[in-house]
Amino acid sequence: MKKCDYCAKEISYYDQYCDEECERKALDFYSLRERYTKVFSIFNIIGVFGIPVGLFLSAIDAIIGFSLTAFSMMLVGITVVLLPFPVENMISSLKIKKAVFVTRMIGVGFLVLGTALFVLRILIFN
Ligand SMILES: [Zn+2]
Repeated sequence: MKKCDYCAKEISYYDQYCDEECERKALDFYSLRERYTKVFSIFNIIGVFGIPVGLFLSAIDAIIGFSLTAFSMMLVGITVVLLPFPVENMISSLKIKKAVFVTRMIGVGFLVLGTALFVLRILIFN
């Protein structure tokens, strides 16, 4: 059975979306992704790079190292929450609506972990 590209509801074989609203939301998603894909990549690369660098630095200077890791995780989290762009095979298997939701939850997870690490660093080292 064919599914709506946006919300994953079952639709007739000849359609791509269940209604105009799903089509509009899908097009909004694609245009947002097109506009911000560079910003998304740059912030994620900085964040994903900062996490191991911070962990490495924490062996030399725990406060700076843990802070860098915590802020990098928060940066990835905020970027992914504001610009939830799932990878392509997630979109094709879950469809846009659910893939965006799952991606956003991963972002929230990074944000929570980063914040927890930052709070922990204050509690331990101050
Ligand atoms: Zn739909």
